[in-house]
Amino acid sequence: MSRFLLPLLSLLIVFAANAQWVQDSAAIMGTNIEVQLWAEQEEQGRKGIEAVFAEMQRINQLMSPYIATSELSRVNANAAQRPVSVSQELFALIALSVDISEKTAGAFDITFASIGFLYDYRAKQKPSDTQIAEQLPAINYHHLLLDPEQQSIQFAHNNVKIDLGGIAKGHAVDKAIERLQKMGFKHALVTAGGDTRLLGDRRGRPWMVGIRDPRNPDKQAVVMPLEDSALSTSGDYERFFEEGGERYHHILSPKTGKSTHEVQSVSIMGPSSTLNDALSTSVFVLGVKDGIDLINRTPGYEAIILDSQRKLHYSSGLGME
Ligand code: ADP
Ligand code: MG
Repeated sequence: MSRFLLPLLSLLIVFAANAQWVQDSAAIMGTNIEVQLWAEQEEQGRKGIEAVFAEMQRINQLMSPYIATSELSRVNANAAQRPVSVSQELFALIALSVDISEKTAGAFDITFASIGFLYDYRAKQKPSDTQIAEQLPAINYHHLLLDPEQQSIQFAHNNVKIDLGGIAKGHAVDKAIERLQKMGFKHALVTAGGDTRLLGDRRGRPWMVGIRDPRNPDKQAVVMPLEDSALSTSGDYERFFEEGGERYHHILSPKTGKSTHEVQSVSIMGPSSTLNDALSTSVFVLGVKDGIDLINRTPGYEAIILDSQRKLHYSSGLGME
């Protein structure tokens, strides 16, 4: 062996020995963020994870309805009086939300918040029927007047409020994966609550992503082998309280201002975590038949629904029925 090759070889061995899976989690955007990635050096892996957390913090500061200084809060406070100019990122996500409202016959509607803000699931608070009747006319995505030139948004009705809780986490996961790709990572998982996206595979094996049993936090209802893909689950167990035998949870029908009960959980698989997130919320509202129909006419996306009788339903591309 040449005298140059040997040191080079040992260097390669040290390099390979340092490559490893690095993982961490954090509480951001009101949910649990989890990151796993394959890194040549631990320190480089830590940097990737820090970049993901920083991205989530940034998006939270922009879009949280609970932060008074967020752009979203500024819109809610002022858009009934005048057009409010916002960042390109927020404008684009609101415009996409309106587009999804149109494609889902209004099942997905960020103006659900006009009533949604009256629920406090931790405090077991819900609006009265009178309050719902008063506020219901404010739920309608047609009240959102978007001006792409000014990048501004205005409300055409006084009582409108918007909330991106059904799409922002998926968006954050897409942004985080983009950052990791730019940093050169090839194998990674990023999860924000029910929204997961995978970069590459788990080095020779697929990632195994679980769909939780909605009535048993320790059990998986289904486990999916996935690579270079994404999966979002919406469930009636994330935020809810029970009263008088009724479950009041965080996914509301824009038609009634109340939570829907036809299904317990909806998982959507497809390339964009943003769309998976919005579509899982949409299908939850639409129910089994209309929900499956919607996904069957959306190329590249598949659905698994667990209905209230705990029966599983699949979109046609999964070849299960
Ligand atoms: P999570 O991951 O928080 O469970 P989901 O994707 O299941 O999120 O979406 C639920 C969230 O979507 C709610 O907490 C609320 O912020 C928002 N939301 C509820 N109903 C609707 C609706 N009809 N259209 C759009 N967003 C909604
Ligand atoms: Mg969603």
